[in-house]
Amino acid sequence: MALTNLRELLAQAERHKRAVGAFNVSSIEMICGVVRAAEALRTPVILQIAESRLATTPLPMLGRAMYEAAERAQVPIALHLDHGSSMACIRQALELGFTSVMFDGSALRMEDNIARTLEAAGLARSFGAAIEGEIGSLGRTENGETAFARYTCPEDAVRFARETGVDALAVAIGNAHGVYAGTPAFHFEVLDAIRTQCDTPLVLHGGTGSSAENFRRCIESGVRKINIATAIFMASAQAARSVNQDDWFAMSRAITDAVTEVAKEHIRLFGIA
Ligand SMILES: [Zn+2]
Repeated sequence: MALTNLRELLAQAERHKRAVGAFNVSSIEMICGVVRAAEALRTPVILQIAESRLATTPLPMLGRAMYEAAERAQVPIALHLDHGSSMACIRQALELGFTSVMFDGSALRMEDNIARTLEAAGLARSFGAAIEGEIGSLGRTENGETAFARYTCPEDAVRFARETGVDALAVAIGNAHGVYAGTPAFHFEVLDAIRTQCDTPLVLHGGTGSSAENFRRCIESGVRKINIATAIFMASAQAARSVNQDDWFAMSRAITDAVTEVAKEHIRLFGIA
């Protein structure tokens, strides 16, 4: 059994000064591609799905496939709900055996974010699962809508981490979901300021396209989980277009192969276990 808890993977990543790749999936091909990459490189990964994507891939169906894939994998795999916003969805993920959930209260006032994150944390803990919170606001939401960007204030982050006890903390340092125009300029001083006052593992959302050097600096400054979604979805769409459009099984194989390569590339950048 290779299903594992996020806390364990983050602690391991901290010991080895690397980050765990957290890959968003929305089909069986993507699940298989990520697991195959992790097994080939003998490195644990996180399989995750965002609540906003469940309209196309219902959680009870894809969640069970993710669970089976984790159980059968030759390397430890954590199952994570990305950008959870409703307690009902968070509970459903936990009941399916997800080993961690994110509560995204980044659009809320600080006090409300803390209160709701504590509520989600209590629920997660009752299942033995871990919790990720977010403070600050990314420029684009997970499903591509424009949002008000606000860099994380280090003092707020430290207070949030202390009062909620989250296992992982997502921050906004100039990162965004979707595709960047050029290489983004990250504010590493925000990470360093948080790091000097708090040892909660940090999470970088919007990892796709943010450059090898940015990843290296983030990892140096305490980022232990890096989310990759757009690269997985773009590679899948491109792979499906690259083969005979009348042959679904060729498309399916091409998607799995493409996702394997994308996941491998990022696992190498984040550090092999
Ligand atoms: Zn995200």
